[in-house]
Amino acid sequence: MEAYYEATGKKEFLQIMERFADLLCRVFGPGEGKCHGYPGHQEIELALIRLYGATGRKDYLELAKYFIDQRGTGENYFLTEEKNTLYRQIFPEFAGYDTKYSQSHLPVREQKTAEGHAVRAVYMYCAMADLAGMYQDEELLGACETIWKDMTQRRMYITGSIGSSGILERFTTDYDLPNSSNYSETCASIGLALFGKRMAKLTRDASYMDVAERALYNTVLSGIAQDGKSFFYVNPLEVWPDNCMERTSKEHVKPVRQTWFGVACCPPNIARTLASMGQYMYFTDGKALYVNLYISNRTVLELAGEKVSVEMNSDLTNSGRIGIRLGRNEGAEPYSLALRIPDYVKEYKILRDGKAVAAAGSRSGQGEESREDRVEKGYLYIEGIREKETELTIEFHVPAQFVRANPRVREDSGKVALVKGPLVYCLEETDNGSNLPAVFIDTDQEPEERYEEGLLGGVTVISFKGKRLTEDAWKDGALYAGRKNSFEDVELKAVPYHCWNNRGSGEMLVWMKELL
Ligand SMILES: [Zn+2]
Repeated sequence: MEAYYEATGKKEFLQIMERFADLLCRVFGPGEGKCHGYPGHQEIELALIRLYGATGRKDYLELAKYFIDQRGTGENYFLTEEKNTLYRQIFPEFAGYDTKYSQSHLPVREQKTAEGHAVRAVYMYCAMADLAGMYQDEELLGACETIWKDMTQRRMYITGSIGSSGILERFTTDYDLPNSSNYSETCASIGLALFGKRMAKLTRDASYMDVAERALYNTVLSGIAQDGKSFFYVNPLEVWPDNCMERTSKEHVKPVRQTWFGVACCPPNIARTLASMGQYMYFTDGKALYVNLYISNRTVLELAGEKVSVEMNSDLTNSGRIGIRLGRNEGAEPYSLALRIPDYVKEYKILRDGKAVAAAGSRSGQGEESREDRVEKGYLYIEGIREKETELTIEFHVPAQFVRANPRVREDSGKVALVKGPLVYCLEETDNGSNLPAVFIDTDQEPEERYEEGLLGGVTVISFKGKRLTEDAWKDGALYAGRKNSFEDVELKAVPYHCWNNRGSGEMLVWMKELL
C-alpha cells in the first residue's frame, strides 16, 4: 500500500493502512492494558517502518521497535499464548513449539546464529537493520553483522538460497546444506537480498551486495520461468523428477515451475523485486553515487539536490564488459562514484574518458590507480567527477571456473560447482542425458565458453570433459555386487542455474563429482 502511494501519489490505500496500523498501536505496545506480544511471522515491522517513512507518524516506528525489542524477552509470548484456555492449535506440527522456529528463543540482540523459518528470519533482520540505522543503534547493528556472517558463511547455498530443511522451511545447523531435499524458498532469497542491500548502505561494505547479487542472479531469477508464467517456490540444487513424490520427504520439491500456489507468496514477491531492481542497483549518500549491480538500464538519480543521469550497458555475465555514461548539469558540485568490484573479480580494467583508472586492479586495491582513487571495502571510489559527461568502460575478468565447498559441507564433499561471474551453472538432462550423479568431472581442463544466441534467450554455455559410469557390468540387473565399475568419456554442457527447467522436465545438478 505504501509502495502504491509512492508510485502513484494516491492516498486512499495509505489511509486504509493507517487505520489498521492505528489498531495495532492501540492493541500492542508497552504499558498497562496492552498486549506485550510480537508477530509470529515477522514482516509487520518492515511495513510499519515504511509507513512511518510515508506518514512521519513516529508511533508506527516505535511500535516496530517495540516488536523487535520485546521479542525473546521474559516468558516466551507464544508458549504463554498456548496456555490460554481459548487457544486453538491450528497446525498440529507446531505442538511442542520450538521457540527457535520463530526467532523468539533469545532477545534479538543476543542472537548469534540464523535460526528457524528462513523467510521470517530475514524479514526480521531487515527490520533490525532499518532500526539500527534510524536509531544509530550500534548494538543492533552488531547483532545484524554477527547473524549475517553465520548465515552467509555457514548456512547459505552457493546459489544464495537459505533454509536447508524441507520440513518447517527452516535453518538447521552449520554446514548442513543438502542439495535435493532443501527448501530454499524464493522469498527467503528475496529477504536475503533485502537484508544485504540494507547492510551495504549502512556500512558501505560491498561484500553485502556480493551476497545479494548471488541471491538475485541465481535463486530469485530461477524462481520465475523465462516466459514469466510459472514459478518455483522451492529451489533445490539437484533434482530427479521421479522421486519428487507426494507423501515422501521430497513432497515439497516441484520438478517443474507451477502457475500458482495455495500460499502464493513467491510469485508476487518476484514481481515486486524485479520492479524495484533500481533500489538494489544504486544508492546515493549526498557525496557519492554507489553502483552495486551491473544491469543494463537508464535512470536519473538525485545527488545533493542535483540530478545525475546514468546509462549502463552491461554484458557482465558473458564478456564481463560494461559501459556507463554519466551526465549532469554544468557547474554542479563534484561528486564521487563508488563502483562495486565484485568478490569474484580478480582482475579488472576501468577507463574513465579513455584514461585508465585502475589498469590492473584487484579488489584489495593493488593496481595503477591514480592517487585520489581508492578501493575501500569492495568499492572503487572515483573522486571529483565534475564533467558534464563522463564515460566509463569497465572490463571485469569473469572466466568460468570450478569451485569447491568447505570440507565441512558433507553433501558437497568431493564435488565441484561451476561458476562464471555471479552465475552458478548446472547440468540439465536435456543436454547431458539422465542419471547426472553418475558423471565425474575432469577439473584439470579449462572449461570452454561459448555464447549461444538461440539458446534460452541467449546465454554463455560452458563445455568440459568428464567420465560417466557405464552399466556394462550390470546387465544382469543385480543391485549390489563385488564388481569393478567402468567409465566412458563424455562431453558435458552446463547452462546458468537460473534458466534450468525452461526446456521441459528433467534432471538437474549443480554439485558434480570430481574425478580425482
Ligand atoms: Zn514465498
